[in-house]
Amino acid sequence: MSAVYPLAERGTRATVVEIGDVEIGGRELVLIAGPCSVESEEQLRAAALAARAAGALVLRGGAFKPRTSPYAFQGLGKEGLALLRAVGDEVGLPVVTEALEPRQVPLVAEYADAIQIGSRNMHVAPLLRAAGASGRPVLLKRGMSATLEEFLMSAEYILSEGNYDVILCERGVRTFSDFSRNTLDLAIVPAVKKISHLPILVDPSHGTGSREKVAPLSRASAAVGADGLMIEVHHAPNTALSDGPQSITPEMFAELVRDLKQIAPVIGRSL
Ligand code: PEP
Ligand code: MN
Repeated sequence: MSAVYPLAERGTRATVVEIGDVEIGGRELVLIAGPCSVESEEQLRAAALAARAAGALVLRGGAFKPRTSPYAFQGLGKEGLALLRAVGDEVGLPVVTEALEPRQVPLVAEYADAIQIGSRNMHVAPLLRAAGASGRPVLLKRGMSATLEEFLMSAEYILSEGNYDVILCERGVRTFSDFSRNTLDLAIVPAVKKISHLPILVDPSHGTGSREKVAPLSRASAAVGADGLMIEVHHAPNTALSDGPQSITPEMFAELVRDLKQIAPVIGRSL
């Protein structure tokens, strides 16, 4: 056992984490899709139906949004959580959404099947501990300048609360690159696989910041061995209240899933 990450490194078998009845870290390449933010029942339902029809197994949607500007749309809060739960139940998909601060965790845990910890909060120990104590699986996004060691140490905070249901998510890091919102660090997927039993997803939406890059980087993420993808889908991305430029349409999502279905068997995955 390593003294560095005794829990994140423990064991030789891959851990399978369940969000609702969806297994992440097994043979299936799991697609999590939905809007960046929950905006309205109609908007969420349109994304959820499209996501499900194409083959997504989990619905995403932010209710508490970590926006760069305090004047930007901050999310619908509790109303957003209720909409996410209702639409998820209606279409038959488990749901994941972000908690921004420790005191929100019990509320988010009440409505969601899994709690997302965002990139901006990856280093916030009290939030990690609260998520760890929540009883829900935790989807931990990599901080935008976090090393692999820091990323796994944040997972360790959750695991050390006795919560072994941790899913890592690469979402791009800050570099000098000027053509992309972030630089998607796909090499972290095999790096994580080498030292940790935890499953790892890739989010090519935040990882690139632009719609036309989402499908190519999704295909690359699958090929490099990610356990799944988290993708922002919006029925009218140009009107989205957050992350419209990187949100893909239902048609683009369906086309991407068709491509991923061809890639999956080549790398020993099903979809
Ligand atoms: C999100 O998933 O909508 C989000 C805010 O992601 P990140 O924390 O990776 O920026
Ligand atoms: Mn977003």
